[in-house]
Amino acid sequence: MSESLPTRVVPLEAGASAENPPCPACGEPLFGWLDTQLGLAGPVRRCESCGLGVVGGDASPEEALRELDRCGDEESVRFPNRASYACALGSAGWSGIEPGARYLFTVEAARRLVARRDQVVKRSRWLPGASLAATCQTLLNSVTFGHNVALAALGRARAVPADEPWKRFIDGLASVVLAIPALAIALPVELAGAIFGRGAVVALRFELL
Ligand SMILES: [Zn+2]
Repeated sequence: MSESLPTRVVPLEAGASAENPPCPACGEPLFGWLDTQLGLAGPVRRCESCGLGVVGGDASPEEALRELDRCGDEESVRFPNRASYACALGSAGWSGIEPGARYLFTVEAARRLVARRDQVVKRSRWLPGASLAATCQTLLNSVTFGHNVALAALGRARAVPADEPWKRFIDGLASVVLAIPALAIALPVELAGAIFGRGAVVALRFELL
């Protein structure tokens, strides 16, 4: 009879270092995720535990909480979900990445952050219209030169336009011609997202303990 060796378990904290600073929401180390040129302050790290994305260095819980409040107010917020299927599908092309973004939230990261001021998530809701638009845009970002061109044209996001006029023309054309095919793919992605809590855009309502 073979004898199995005990599985060695290394806590995530063991990975913490200057390269992997602690997550401002849950304290676990952040790991490198994306190095993208989309008007961001630096490379993007992510937390493997709560899913929070952090752009650049010097993250703090206070700042993250202030940024979360900017997604609404101290009682309710809405944000692109970094734990969504759309984000997993799009990676650097995910429409939730916008110029100037600092924190990329998940429901779990928001829950951890508001717990610091004795709040709990009372209600978490998938926003169907905004989610479909965000996932369509994520898919379109994979074929356009610029980033978030269609959503910006609708006044729903900040774009990173292509550098040349002809590229911007192609991007505009592609966004119109491919809108329906993108919607056909986005629909099942978002229906699954709604069922499994991985929708592209979510709204949360908080309540004091
Ligand atoms: Zn975390």
